[in-house]
Amino acid sequence: MTNDILVFAEIRDGSFKKINAELISAGLNLAEKSGGAVNVAALGGDIDAAIEDARKYPIQKVYAVKNAVLANYSTQGFADALEAVVKQAEPAIVLFGATAMGKDLSARVAARLGAALLTDCTEVDLEDGSLKVKRPVFSGKVYANVVSTNDGIKMASVRPNIYPASDQGGDPAELVDVACDLSADNIGAMVTAIESTAAGRKDVTEAEIIVAGGRSLKSEENFKILEELADVLGASVGASRAAVDAGYAPHSQQVGQTGKVVNPKLYIACGISGAIQHLVGMRTSKVIVAINKDANAPIFQHADYGIEGDLFDVVPLLTEEFKKIVEG
Ligand SMILES: Cc1cc2nc3c(=O)[nH]c(=O)nc-3n(C[C@H](O)[C@H](O)[C@H](O)COP(=O)(O)OP(=O)(O)OC[C@H]3O[C@@H](n4cnc5c(N)ncnc54)[C@H](O)[C@@H]3O)c2cc1C
Repeated sequence: MTNDILVFAEIRDGSFKKINAELISAGLNLAEKSGGAVNVAALGGDIDAAIEDARKYPIQKVYAVKNAVLANYSTQGFADALEAVVKQAEPAIVLFGATAMGKDLSARVAARLGAALLTDCTEVDLEDGSLKVKRPVFSGKVYANVVSTNDGIKMASVRPNIYPASDQGGDPAELVDVACDLSADNIGAMVTAIESTAAGRKDVTEAEIIVAGGRSLKSEENFKILEELADVLGASVGASRAAVDAGYAPHSQQVGQTGKVVNPKLYIACGISGAIQHLVGMRTSKVIVAINKDANAPIFQHADYGIEGDLFDVVPLLTEEFKKIVEG
């Protein structure tokens, strides 16, 4: 086994996703302590452009498996390909994004290779040669520090928007084509289509800024005021379950216990009371702004900034003011 860190790269529609640059950043911190290098595993069908993009980062090698069987994500196909890369690259640590794909793939590959897997981390570090991570537990109420005690390979999935994206620079990384025997007949189930979210916005799990609305919006039509603010900020739109159940927003935007867990830099909660089931999904946001006309709304206890007022007055005002700033 080497001292290297391997980053599993997610490639969507042929392009290298931002989470990969964040994982490279985390990997570079680890590599400094392990004395190894950071390498990237790029798997897919038509991924030449993504590979060229990956090679521009300050990493040593891009291990690539290019195969039409990998054109769409499948647990079986990607696990076969990544297993081949890991066996060739012999990394000490493999990093995944704590995304739908990363969570699915990391579990399968870790089980196959008998690796330790630490999931959903908000910090990854090396201490005396052991992988030490921080991860939210009990719905983000506390953080657990967890240390991997196994001697073999270690794996971790890291939440998006935690580490700053690494800059590109330096000599292009070496490209290593990895041989892997893949057959479409062995793929039990695969993703056949990915539907993009409304207006081409990022999924809430990947967004750096989220403008979220609750039952108080009163209609799907009224959600437009949140979309206008989101447009100015380059944000995604989220919703409480009450808003989703009422048909004001799609379930793909629901944040919380029965929705998605998000981790943006900024979460603007508009007319959301702050029920525990909602907090579970957004409590680890870096900055929380709450707009609510009830000064006693529980959300204010968790907000960094609170605006007591009617969202139908406050949100358009914010949109106007942010527009002035953006337009300079
Ligand atoms: C098993 C289970 C799972 C659940 N999963 C989830 C989940 O994943 N996500 C989730 O969100 N919820 C979930 N819930 C529901 C949760 O308990 C709450 O009912 C829900 O979050 C409330 O949504 P809300 O804040 O939009 O609505 P309300 O609780 O009705 O709050 C509306 C808020 O808007 C404020 N308001 C009203 N009008 C205005 C205005 N004009 N301007 C400003 N403020 C205004 C009010 O003061 C109030 O605070 C779950 C519940 C259960 C039992």
